[in-house]
Order: sequence, then structure tokens, then C-alpha cells
Amino acid sequence: MMSTKAKSKYSPGVLSLLPIFYVTWSDTVLSPSEIKMIRKRIQDLPFLTFTDKRLLVKWLNPAKPPSAEEFKEWIRMIRKHAPKMEEDGKMDLADLGLRIARSATSSENTEVWNAPATKDALKEIEEALGIESEISKVLLQTKLHPENSSIEISNQGSFDPTVMQKYLDGKEGELINRIKKLLRDPVFEYKIIRDKEEQRQRVLEQVKLLADQGISKFAFPEEYGGKGDVSKSIAAFEAISYHDHSLLIKFGVQFGLFGGALYGLGTERHFEKYLEDMMKLNLPGCFAMTETGHGSNVRGLETTATYQHSSKTIMIDSPDYDSGKEYIGNAMHSRMAVVFAQLIVEGENHGVHALLVDLRDRHHNLLPGIKVEDCGYKLGLNGVDNGRIWFDKVEIPKENLLNKYGDIDDEGQYFSTIKNPSKRFFTMLGALVAGRISVGIGGNTGAKSALAIAIKYALKRRQFAPKDNEAETLIMDYPSHQRRLIPRLAKTYALNFALHDLQEFYSKEYGSGDMREVETLAAGLKAYATWHATDVIQECREACGGKGYLQENRIPDIKADTDIFTTFEGDNTVLMQLVAKSLMSEYRDNFNDGGYMAIIRFLAGRFTTSVTELNPITIRNTNAEHLLDEDFHRSAFDYRAQKLTITVGQRMRNYLKRRITPYQAYLRCQNHMEVMAEAYIEKIILEKFYQIIEQVEDEDCARILRKLCQLFALDTIQKNKGWYLENDYVSSNKTKAIRRVINKLIQELRPEVLNLVQSFNIPDELLGAKIVS
Ligand SMILES: Cc1cc2nc3c(=O)[nH]c(=O)nc-3n(C[C@H](O)[C@H](O)[C@H](O)COP(=O)(O)OP(=O)(O)OC[C@H]3O[C@@H](n4cnc5c(N)ncnc54)[C@H](O)[C@@H]3O)c2cc1C
Repeated sequence: MMSTKAKSKYSPGVLSLLPIFYVTWSDTVLSPSEIKMIRKRIQDLPFLTFTDKRLLVKWLNPAKPPSAEEFKEWIRMIRKHAPKMEEDGKMDLADLGLRIARSATSSENTEVWNAPATKDALKEIEEALGIESEISKVLLQTKLHPENSSIEISNQGSFDPTVMQKYLDGKEGELINRIKKLLRDPVFEYKIIRDKEEQRQRVLEQVKLLADQGISKFAFPEEYGGKGDVSKSIAAFEAISYHDHSLLIKFGVQFGLFGGALYGLGTERHFEKYLEDMMKLNLPGCFAMTETGHGSNVRGLETTATYQHSSKTIMIDSPDYDSGKEYIGNAMHSRMAVVFAQLIVEGENHGVHALLVDLRDRHHNLLPGIKVEDCGYKLGLNGVDNGRIWFDKVEIPKENLLNKYGDIDDEGQYFSTIKNPSKRFFTMLGALVAGRISVGIGGNTGAKSALAIAIKYALKRRQFAPKDNEAETLIMDYPSHQRRLIPRLAKTYALNFALHDLQEFYSKEYGSGDMREVETLAAGLKAYATWHATDVIQECREACGGKGYLQENRIPDIKADTDIFTTFEGDNTVLMQLVAKSLMSEYRDNFNDGGYMAIIRFLAGRFTTSVTELNPITIRNTNAEHLLDEDFHRSAFDYRAQKLTITVGQRMRNYLKRRITPYQAYLRCQNHMEVMAEAYIEKIILEKFYQIIEQVEDEDCARILRKLCQLFALDTIQKNKGWYLENDYVSSNKTKAIRRVINKLIQELRPEVLNLVQSFNIPDELLGAKIVS
């Protein structure tokens, strides 16, 4: 009978270890302690000959890793013997090694490869390395480049991007797609215009076209011509943010900020008079809150609104240059402004209120007492007309006070249903929370666009060949390129789901009165998502090399336009403090009355980390199954958020006990509080991601989403590993094992990257990048 034994230049002993070596080397990192450990184990393996051991030890030299030829041979052997992958595409490494060894052994000598002790010995090495005890589909999808000794990976992916897109878009998918389709019309063609007047005019016309399509109407009630669906208004913003950001922000200023303040802070008398014209852009308006002298500190605004009972008018005044409104979007095109000013009635200051002030007449002439100045060219968003506005004792009718939360009666007395001025102020600002959710989503969409460009480019671009006469390697196949882009892609997915969840939560809570939780989440997620966007876009710019710097490839505009997302709608650092303060007040409310027991009750109710997590075995557990486990991720995120909250609380209490003023105590804890806020937001993002995976019915999408979620979780733990090590939550071996599992996940996701960005479904016309069209 003809022998069917596999021909290989390696002995059965060496072959038995090939899958382990392949997976170990595939992340291209072998630390000294790992090398030492494998060396020792290899010396102890009775089934290896002296020559086997010498070869295997040679393969452990990081200064001289196995050659591409050798690596190719490993893959050939492994592929040959793993043809029938299980349904889920996985196979035990030790079993696979034994199967290969058996195939190269004559039938009378297979005993050693069937012996349980041999398998146990191989499994022990696997476990000690903390590598997944499975070989995934990735391997089978790895194809060898015909003229190249380097390895090229298939981009076929293992899931359907059109299905994934549905999960990404969520319940507003239909509207998002409708608007994307509309934006593909030539009138919205993405053009590079460098003259601000020309660009502003074009953007203004495009905003009008969107208004004509009724896209401006979602946030407003039907009785005034609106569509009464706040979730859809955010979805419209998301859809536009796949396209030109100047158009997005101009649209957002008119209908979100100006329209949102009109509706959120005004009452019927304002709705009847202005809402319809505002929605149709017949009444262009702006939102004039920030002043040159005061930005984040809105309570410190200096513009005054002084009530004069004799004429029943309110006088709006900018007392000096610095109290002029600054950066105001739509300032050059507006006829009206919502002006935020200190409301003074009978000599008493009732705090910041919003008022409608006419800026121009129907012929676009400025009205008396109004001065407007163009802010000029900016880093980005030059299609938006930002300006400065000053008021010189401008009189407006008393009815122009947006009086939902405070008003002046017929006798000239101020009244409000919210007696506490501080609470009133925050309630007013809370009415504007949709803007923050929208900007967070807009930032994450910017990240998606940049990733789509960078990843599609990386799948075309080749640099460096292993040898002179060989084809060059795709840049996407460099581990460093994968390390730069794939975890960022995972985080973008994570944020997508957290932001959509918040959008839904907001639309449920809308009008319920108590929006504190929505406000906290909106502040935190806006900050986290826009910081993420800035980081991703920069990385994508670099990932495209020089091409990333050319305007024709869109990344420069995405980078310049979204940069300010970290500042407007609330400066990110200040927003994170807001999150921290809200967490602390929840914490304080819970422990103020009940002392220490109350803290324990509070934490027991709020957090799920069990003490078993902190036992020495868990701290050192480097098993891949444990590291990929949802419970480990949740516990690690919970623990960090929990511990940071407790320690801030304890520090604050100690300072206060020592009679340090609350403000000084807050300053001493400020950095600590920001980290706490970030940990809280990361915990929320992780929770939402795992929640959504539970609801995903398509098994292929669920599998990929789980990998993305695991990568987000482990990459975040890795980013914070200093903290986890300081707090003895993990051992240094465990952080090393985490790094290895991250690399493994990245490798498994590599064949999926094209599908993962296709799932964003960004039409070429909207993406506007030559390198990928
Ligand atoms: C293009 C653009 C468009 C805009 N559109 C509008 C608009 O339409 N309407 C409008 O009203 N405003 C608008 N703004 C203003 C924007 O909202 C403000 O710029 C923003 O609120 C920040 O205020 P600021 O610029 O005064 O910065 P500041 O508040 O002075 O902050 C400066 C720095 O100090 C830090 N900082 C401030 N306070 C603290 C603190 N307590 N602790 C620690 N650090 C702190 C901040 O993190 C920041 O890094 C726009 C701005 C720009 C650039």
C-alpha cells in the first residue's frame, strides 16, 4: 500500500509543537521569561530527540526569528492537517499538533502520539504561555502571496457587512440611509473650497435644501409643523456627519442650538411665532452663549438683561469688550439670536437666562445697538460663519424672555417654579443636552470615516518586500499597522453602541423632568467619544502616510473640522468634571445619612465586583479563557470605577474633616476625579457593548462583535495597566498574557477589517477620498 504520510522536513516531535510555535510567534513578541519557560519545558519533553530540541530552541531566538520560508512551511503543514475545522472555526492546538505528528509517523510508532501524557505535556506549555487553546479560522484564511515569501491575508471576512450595518445604525437605520442617499445628490457634492465666503454661501444653500426635505423638523412638535421625534433628530445629525462637517455644524447650530433653545427654553408664545420659520430656515438664528471673557464658566457671563417695568422691555447690554459673544455659529447669516445673559429684575440678579434678540432686519441690515464681527478663518469648519456680537443697550419686549423656567409677571416681579437659582440654571442647561449627544455621535462618525479611508488604503498600499525580487507586503499586514488601527476600530464600535443606547435613553426620558442621568452620560460620552475621534483621526492620517495629508483624501478636513468637537458643546475636561461631580453627589447622598454602612450598601448596590476577583489565583490567572471572559472584563472595569470613587470620597471626607474648604478639597482631588469619571464612562461603554451582543441574532455578527468587545476591554485594561498593577488587581504575568491575547484578537480580526469598515456603509461620494474611490 502507498504511504499517505505527510512529507515534511521536520520530525514528528517537532511537528507536534508546530501549532503552539505558530501561535506563539504569530504575535511576533516573545518575552525573555516566556523563552526561558518554553526552553525548560522543551528540555523535559521525553518524546523529543536531541536534534528536535536543538531546532526548537533555535526557533526561540528573538534576534533571529524563524525565517519566512520556515513560517511558510509551518502554515503548509498546519493547513494540511486542519482541513476540517469545527463549525465555529476552532481547533485545539495540542490535538492539532498530535494529529500532524501522527501523520508523519509510521503506523506502528503512533503510540506516543496517542498517549494522554504527551497531550498533557503539550497542553501544559499552552497554558503556561496563556495562549488560546484553539487555532482559529485566521490561519486558514491566511494565504501565501504567490511571488512572495511573506504572508497575505484574505479580506473576505466571515460576516455580512449589510447585516452588521443594521446593528450599527440601530433603530434609526432607515432614516440614516435615506439621508445618506439624499446627500449623494450632486448638489451636496463634496468640494474643497478655500474661500470662506464662497464656502459659507454654498453651505447655507445646502442647509436650506435639507430644511426643504423636512430633515430639520424631527425635534419639534407636530402642532407647530414638526415631526415630534427627538431620536430621529439625532439620527439626522449622525447621517449628515458622514458628509461635510461644515454642513453638519451649520445645520446643528440652526436647528439644534437655535431651534433647540427656542423650543427647550421657550413657551407657546415663542413656538407659535417662530418655530415654523426657524424649521424652514426662513428665520436664520444663532445661539449666543459664550463670551470672550467666559466660556466654560457660563454662570460668569457678563452680558446683562435688565428689566424696565415702565416700558415692559428688557435691555440687553455688553458692558465691555470681553462680555461680547464670541465664536457664535451662524452669526453672519442670522436674523435673530438666543442670547444668554444675567437677568436683572428690580435690581436683583436672577442668574443666566435666555432671550430672543433681533440682530438684523429682513434686508439683512444690522439693527441699532448691534455690532457683529467675523471670527475669520479657523482651523476647520470654514463653511460655518462664526462671529462676535456686542449689544449696546438694545431693548427687546419682555415677551422675548424664553420663559419656560423663569418669567416676569405683569407687576414686574420675577418668578420661577424652580426656587433654587443653581438648580434652575442646571435645569436650563439640561434642556440642551441633545446637542452633546449629537456631537459625541458626530465625533465617532468622524472616526469611522477616517478608519474607512485608512483601512481601505492599507489594503491597497504595499511597502517593502522580504527580498529584492519579491512582491512588497501590504501595509495592513504589518502587525504594527494592525495594532494601530484595529483596537481603535474596536473602540469606535464600542462607542457606536453606547452612544445609540444613550440616544434611546434620552428619547425615553425626554420631558420626564429628571434628566440627571442622561446629562451625566451625555457629558461623559461626548468627551470620551470626541477625544477618541481626535486620536483616531491623527492615527489614520499617519497610517496613510503622505496621502493622508492631501486635501483630496479628506482626512485633513475631517481632522481640522472635528478637532473643535472636544471643546464646543462643553470643553471635554470640564465635562469630565461634571461627570465626576455627579458621581460624587450620588455617593455623598448615599453616605451622608448612614455613615460607613451606607457606603457599603451603596457600593453593594452599584457595583458587582466580587471579592473573589481579588484572590491571588485570579490576580495571576493568565489563562486565555479567563482573559477573554466577559465576567473578568466587567469585574475589572467595575473594580476600577468603584475603587476610584471610594478613594475620592475618602480623600474628600478627610479634607473636609480637616476644615479644608470644599473648593480647596475639590482642587486637591481634581485629577483623581477626572480619572474616576473616565473609569465610570468606560464601564458604561463596556456594559452597553455586552448588552447589545446579547441582542444580536446573526451568529456571525455576534461572534465578531464579541471579539471587538473583548479587544476593547483588554486594550482598555492594558492602557490602565499601571493602575491595575499599582492596585494589585493583576500580576505582571497577567498583563503580559493580556498583551498576548490582544495581539491574538487583532490577528483574528485582521481578515475582517474590510468588512468592518464596509459595515459603516459610507458612500464614496460622502467619504470624498480619492485614494479609496
Ligand atoms: C468653532 C467654534 C464654534 C462655537 N460655536 C459656539 C456657538 O455657536 N455658541 C456659543 O455660545 N459658543 C460657541 N463656541 C464656544 C465654545 O462652546 C467654547 O469655546 C467652549 O465652551 C470653551 O470655552 P472657552 O473657549 O472660553 O475655553 P475656556 O473655558 O477658557 O477653557 C480653556 C481651557 O481651560 C480649561 N479649563 C477651564 N475651566 C477649567 C476647570 N474648572 N478646571 C480645569 N480646567 C479648566 C479647559 O479644559 C480648556 O482647556 C464655539 C467655539 C468654537 C471654537
